[in-house]
Amino acid sequence: MTEIDAVLVLDARAELGEGPVWDERGGALYFVDIMRGRVNRFDPADGSRRVYDIGVAVGALAPTDAGDFVLATADGFARLDPIAGAVRPIAKVEADRPGNRMNDGKCDPAGRFWAGTMALDEHAGAGALYRLDPDGAVHTMLRDVTISNGLDWSGDARTMYYIDSGRRSVDAFDFDAASGSIANRRTLVRVAERDGVPDGMTLDADGCLWVALWGGGAVHRYGPDGALEAIVRLPVQHVTCCAFGGCELRDLYITTAAIKLSDRERAEQPHAGGVFLARPGVRGRPANRFNG
Ligand code: CA
Repeated sequence: MTEIDAVLVLDARAELGEGPVWDERGGALYFVDIMRGRVNRFDPADGSRRVYDIGVAVGALAPTDAGDFVLATADGFARLDPIAGAVRPIAKVEADRPGNRMNDGKCDPAGRFWAGTMALDEHAGAGALYRLDPDGAVHTMLRDVTISNGLDWSGDARTMYYIDSGRRSVDAFDFDAASGSIANRRTLVRVAERDGVPDGMTLDADGCLWVALWGGGAVHRYGPDGALEAIVRLPVQHVTCCAFGGCELRDLYITTAAIKLSDRERAEQPHAGGVFLARPGVRGRPANRFNG
């Protein structure tokens, strides 16, 4: 078992840091602080940070071919202009369910944006997984989801990996890139209770999965067969998501959270909510962009 260290690169003080994505064009890491409704832009070259106030909770974002970003917000999909900081709603999701919000999301290899929902009180089965197509249509892809979380696609675009944290598993689907359909759900990894709860994830260029473990203080690397191959250890308990970035996509950026820590735990984990960096010796893949 390979053990890898992570170092703090941005003392972001996020409550619920999440959804890191590397924007190659600007050489910057974007991530969200969900319940504060903030998108952060971090430039590791000079250490600068810009904060965008979205005005509502924001679960995830992805770059677009047009140069802006698509967002999964509390009540639907929106676009963020990173120059002006302006936010423009584009589609409502679950407008009839004010107790739900959107959570993690990512673009598929054909440029559709997938993002799911969860109940604010996390009750079982209240969420769903949605697909926003480039033409603006929203499709419901899965129902009976508890906490819709990490997702990514294999390099050959034939498999979609997905985490519903309520199931404590990483699942795989057959994926059809032409139609955007998913089928044949099966469990790839079942995470033991002592290791935490699977949250966000990313795939590397070798087709292995890097899974952030909420409550587990770690990121696990699993092979495409589901075997545990490496562990990144962090000095904070709530590890939320990860994404490759930097030069040649060799830097694994990891977001974390302080929310739900007691006062004592916050004192013991002063960098909870920070962004950490590991260099595991493998490369990531460029983020897929929204094609609309
Ligand atoms: Ca998450």
